[in-house]
Amino acid sequence: MTLFNNLSASEIRRLYNDENLSVCDVAISIADQIEKFEPTIKAFLNFNRTSLLDQAQEIQNKRKDLMKFPLFGIPIALKDNISTSGVITTAGSKILENYVPIYDAGVVEKLRGQGALIIGKTNCDEFAMGSSTENSAFYPTKNPWDNQRVPGGSSGGSAAAVSARMTPIALGSDTGGSIRQPAAFTGIVGLKCTYGLVSRYGLIAYASSLDQIGPFARTIDDLAMALEAIAFHDPRDSTSVPDSNKGGYIQALNKPIAGLKAAMPREFFAEGISPEMKNQVLKAAKTLENLGVTIEEISLPSIKYSLAAYYIIAPAEASSNLARFDGIRYGFHEDGKDIIEQYSETRGKGFGKEVRRRILLGTFVLSSGYYDSYYLKAMKVRKAITEELEKAFEKYDFLITPTTPNVAFKFGEKTHNPLEMYLEDVCTIAVNLAGIPAISLPCGIINGLPAGVQLLAKRFGERTLLSVSDAFLRETGFNKALPPMLNEVKR
Ligand code: GLN
Repeated sequence: MTLFNNLSASEIRRLYNDENLSVCDVAISIADQIEKFEPTIKAFLNFNRTSLLDQAQEIQNKRKDLMKFPLFGIPIALKDNISTSGVITTAGSKILENYVPIYDAGVVEKLRGQGALIIGKTNCDEFAMGSSTENSAFYPTKNPWDNQRVPGGSSGGSAAAVSARMTPIALGSDTGGSIRQPAAFTGIVGLKCTYGLVSRYGLIAYASSLDQIGPFARTIDDLAMALEAIAFHDPRDSTSVPDSNKGGYIQALNKPIAGLKAAMPREFFAEGISPEMKNQVLKAAKTLENLGVTIEEISLPSIKYSLAAYYIIAPAEASSNLARFDGIRYGFHEDGKDIIEQYSETRGKGFGKEVRRRILLGTFVLSSGYYDSYYLKAMKVRKAITEELEKAFEKYDFLITPTTPNVAFKFGEKTHNPLEMYLEDVCTIAVNLAGIPAISLPCGIINGLPAGVQLLAKRFGERTLLSVSDAFLRETGFNKALPPMLNEVKR
């Protein structure tokens, strides 16, 4: 039988239009692929064949009304910190092990309304805190390229599912790199959108001023198609921007990019970035140059403080956001002799080690004696970074950097030292602090593992990122490489 799971969303869409393909056939292909590889990969926290096939039938029955939407019958997996009405949503945490939301997140409402096929909920680091999915309270996800290695995180399940051809599109969330880093580790594309472009309504909050939902895909066409659907003004998210800022993503494809100006900031190629990675990214820059882009080297001196500022600001916000998990109204609950013991037993047992570490850190930096020297200072650094980037974008259309210092690491390699894990985010974090968009693209293979190049643009510069990415991948085809374990699947 045809392997519809191996097709991109736009290819599936063409078959719906031209060949009268049924959503049920696509769903069967997807379910078969998940059942074949999921026992090894463990990308999902929630997948159910029967309900997927029922859902496909329902969408198929409404074909006449829903066909007008580009996402009709397109399979999409959701990171498990995105609320789904009636379907368990854990955020990778024991404290939400049995939590069933009574409402859909803004993006989910949109996807359902447009007839997308929601195939399941994907594994992630607990409350999106981590870079490897090893902080999931349930199990880690394996990298389809090498099962001894992590798929990155925190949206590792979504990335692994797309990379292992279990779905053409998945949504993740990116607070400090959680879409771009796993995309790089698994050889796919991942987009962190401009802050405010995609509704955070129903996204379980980690650090609200940094969190953004965004898409993973294997082609830029699919990424643009997903973004077109999920970027909309949502009055239920007070930071959601007006619709006038969005759109034109599909029209941005197939455009010449000659004449664009880009820069490579020196600080992103400094100490800690492996020579192989540097080399691969420089080659990617050369390709762009051959496509007519002018590239210069620049310096952004404040960038070196981004990691330090992030690991103050993000835990500070997390300590406040996670205060709601008290075991009283919903979620995991432990009894105690009084309310204080009940709280501490519930939160002590319900949260994992990394989450507890960040709550403590966040509470500390917000405490009255230390607020000025840590939180306030970090906020000043955030402003300096934002201004420096904004200034760079007055002169350049986009910036080029590595997505990660190195390729995917092995399980357990960085769990003994949290600081080493934090260093994973060194190339991605400034983007969240500044609220700008960035994309990670596959840019070749290092020792059998995918490498990623990151492109950054000014606020609402998604169209530029998509044009350049589209031209780059058409030229190189780096997104077509298959993880070796899928080699028996023909393209
Ligand atoms: N790795 C970073 C962290 O642990 C980023 C996570 C994210 O983007 N959600 O905070």
